[in-house]
Amino acid sequence: MKFILTKELGRLARWLRILGFDSEYFTQDKESTLIIKALQEERIILTRNVRLGRHPGIRKLHISSNYLSEQLRQALRELPLKPNEALMFTRCIICNEPLANIEKEKVKTQVPEYVFKTQSDFVRCPVCKRIYWQGSHWGKVAKTLEEITR
Ligand SMILES: [Zn+2]
Repeated sequence: MKFILTKELGRLARWLRILGFDSEYFTQDKESTLIIKALQEERIILTRNVRLGRHPGIRKLHISSNYLSEQLRQALRELPLKPNEALMFTRCIICNEPLANIEKEKVKTQVPEYVFKTQSDFVRCPVCKRIYWQGSHWGKVAKTLEEITR
């Protein structure tokens, strides 16, 4: 299940990526480009744009709220998505690229000393080279999700 989100939904795109779902963020205005990309890559369109027309073969979810927590709640309710801890943080929040494991020794100069001392598993985005680790993000995300989805 893959998604493409239109430009009003940047924060929701980041959240779907945190949860591990392949979510392109489409920032252009051209509807035809959006439709072609969605068709070619078999992505469901998430949008707040009510003027976006109907197109054969396109799946679309109109997101009704302006608020992130409502948006995420709606997406989790109306799409066949289940947040799964094993999937979380498997994708770069910025690039949507799948993250790859990286040896701890290789990140020594790239993460804060405290993090290096206390964490053992690191992953890296192959595109932007950003490094992620479990640390405190996980707990925070789990807590936010719990608040949103209960
Ligand atoms: Zn990246």
